[in-house]
Amino acid sequence: MDRQECLSYLVGMSAISQSLPEFRNEPLADFSMPANRRAMETALEKVHAELGREYDLLVGGERIKTAEKLRSLNPSHPAEVVGVHQKATPELAARAVESAYSYFAEWSATSATDRIRKLLAAARLIREHKFEFDAWLVYEAGKTWPEADADVAEAIDFCEYYAREMTRLSGPQPVVQMPGEKDEMRYLPLGVGIVIPPWNFPLAILVGMTVAALVTGNTVVIKPSSETPTVGAKFAELLLEAGFPDRSFSFLPGSGSAIGDLLVAHPKTRFIAFTGSRDVGLRINELAAKTQPGQRWIKRVIAEMGGKDAIIVDSDADLEKAADGVVASAFGYQGQKCSACSRAIVDERVYDTFLGLVKKKTEALTVGPSEDPANYMGPVISDGSKEGKPVTGGAPAPGDGYFIKPTVIADIKSDARIFQEEIFGPVLAVTRAKDFDHALALANDSQYGLTGALYSNNPEHIREARDKFFVGNLYLNRKCTGAMVGAHPFGGFNMSGTDSKAGGPDYLLLFLQAKSIAERVA
Ligand code: NAP
Repeated sequence: MDRQECLSYLVGMSAISQSLPEFRNEPLADFSMPANRRAMETALEKVHAELGREYDLLVGGERIKTAEKLRSLNPSHPAEVVGVHQKATPELAARAVESAYSYFAEWSATSATDRIRKLLAAARLIREHKFEFDAWLVYEAGKTWPEADADVAEAIDFCEYYAREMTRLSGPQPVVQMPGEKDEMRYLPLGVGIVIPPWNFPLAILVGMTVAALVTGNTVVIKPSSETPTVGAKFAELLLEAGFPDRSFSFLPGSGSAIGDLLVAHPKTRFIAFTGSRDVGLRINELAAKTQPGQRWIKRVIAEMGGKDAIIVDSDADLEKAADGVVASAFGYQGQKCSACSRAIVDERVYDTFLGLVKKKTEALTVGPSEDPANYMGPVISDGSKEGKPVTGGAPAPGDGYFIKPTVIADIKSDARIFQEEIFGPVLAVTRAKDFDHALALANDSQYGLTGALYSNNPEHIREARDKFFVGNLYLNRKCTGAMVGAHPFGGFNMSGTDSKAGGPDYLLLFLQAKSIAERVA
């Protein structure tokens, strides 16, 4: 950057920084307030009238229809089609990467200030349509009102947080000045990114990975989950409305197994931002590592994967609070969070009392259509047979949707499959531990390492958990779900992924590369 460039950069950036208040998490809607209830009911009605519409596939500004369609269903009422989408062909997938590649030079040369402004506009637009997005999540992902609202609030948080982060990273970075030199380090974008989100946070995770890539100056191909493409299509339209050029991204619904390999392996793909299951993440990692003819870089993989998250209940814990935390973490959004508690590991001195409390609290949970706010739990995303992920032990609950009663299975040993494998549904395994050290060893006996929690009043045990509980996100005397952008940068160890720490100060660096410039001046 020469002096003039530097000056205009600083002027632009200081204007935007000054207009940006300190980051604050988006408040969650309080649905006990009549105004919020009415707003949500109105949004549900509006969105219901739009169910079954057809959406285009977007490749570099072109709106495309394909012969084969993808239909997303309302898991509370599977006869109801939420959206009809185009199924991308391998040819379209290749076109999307080529299109992103051809626009990269232009987009990466736009000023960071401009990209930040667009991102803030996206945040404003999501906020303006918050209840509508909530409603789409209720219908397409089976989220209850509060779970849907938390997803949308997190999407807003990602936009606001990464906009601020980019103000920090887009300028010259401080480096030591060698005598007789002008030394500088600046961050550059990477190139074409493939964004592959899961269905369980169809807005927040899709938005987080997409805007992180765009605001840092990359171009992207967004491949939404086949379970929740309508939420993705609504966000793609919003990106355009916020001012992101139609060539900066493609929106490419289609089956991951049909186009995923092509997108990942394409020689012009520079990085993949993936969130989903362990097996798909490992496949992407392996394929991305293989150099293709014509490829000029080592691909970067940002992969956030599954969990088998444990909550330890110590002998002196407040058992009421611990049982509340375990039940909320295990059965919120039907246990379909990567951070969900699927293992409760309980000191044997309090095991029976704790189990009794968990049983009572679990039996009080209501299960039914997620549009009805009386239900604490909605449906699971599908009947399970499609993806080969049956939820063992769960009895169906009444209704035409994919309803499963929350299930607690006691006296599970650590070598049982239910203790080791991710189930991704409302199933909690409860295991007896001899003492705290045993409990900690059991919690760490996992290939995963995403979230974990300890309920204890023993300062020594709390200290030990800080040091030895091997998870990316540790919670003490609170539930293990509900990470907040900014406060709890999110990402796991081991088979839970690359520990990218979404919503934290390290995240945008994953979408950038640093260039050092040394100029002799004397
Ligand atoms: P998934 O089956 O792995 O699918 C995730 C995404 O990958 C979908 O968009 C899917 O497309 C796509 N995909 C499938 N095969 C592919 C391939 N060969 N190449 C490229 N992409 C491919 O996971 P999911 O069922 O949607 O989500 C649940 C999982 O995500 C759980 O394991 C959960 O723990 C994990 N998760 C992790 C985090 C975290 O931060 N660590 C957060 C949320 C969820 P299709 O839909 O078309 O198959």
